[in-house]
Amino acid sequence: MDAKAPHHDLVIYSGGMDSFTLLHVLAFHHRRRCGNLDNFHVISFDYGQRHSKELEYARKETLRLGLSPRHHVVDLRVLSPLLQGSALTTPHIPVPEGHYAAESMRRTVVPGRNTIMLAIAMAYAESLTLRESVRGRATVHYGAHAGDHHIYPDCRPDYIDAMRVAYQQATDGHVSLMALFGDLDKAGILREGRAVGLVPDDYARTWTCYKGQEMACGVCGSCNERREAFQALGWEDPALAWEKDLPG
Ligand SMILES: [Zn+2]
Repeated sequence: MDAKAPHHDLVIYSGGMDSFTLLHVLAFHHRRRCGNLDNFHVISFDYGQRHSKELEYARKETLRLGLSPRHHVVDLRVLSPLLQGSALTTPHIPVPEGHYAAESMRRTVVPGRNTIMLAIAMAYAESLTLRESVRGRATVHYGAHAGDHHIYPDCRPDYIDAMRVAYQQATDGHVSLMALFGDLDKAGILREGRAVGLVPDDYARTWTCYKGQEMACGVCGSCNERREAFQALGWEDPALAWEKDLPG
């Protein structure tokens, strides 16, 4: 690669704990490598999810990191009529409670969600490589992790490998796809965060719960998985601190 050609990093960031950790881990390494975050970009998607809390958290965090000018929130709500049938996008379908292994959790699969997001991220990353006199390269970073494999086909290694090939073919190798946490569970992700200096209180700036109440509900699959991950590290989850005050 030409020494003058920039290498852009583009992170898909939802505002949840996985992509929050990914954002921080990548920003840490990008800053170390480049000295600044000028070629570090963030993209989020509004796909008509039940609540916009995650996105509010995402916007606040990129503002805090000085990344707002390079953070785009793509409004996919125009697609909502085509993506019905998931508890995350259809108000009358209840959000299932329990664990991800449960069959009911399939109700949280949003049709084509990751494929749509990865296609748009690829296009944006490719456009970033075209903006300088010397064509650069870009990597799109995606927060899929092993804990998601069971119910979400578009988080499994075979899917990620296939998309990697699609990126290569579609951009002549100028844009690549990376899922840094592809082999990790949620506790493993927290350990990666800890390695770059994140502490439990930092996760108060994330929203993982599928419900959009004032506090995280503590009973949806997302809350359960998150609680177990924090427990594995001996950490207290600031989002579920209210549970300590419950009687009994
Ligand atoms: Zn919840």
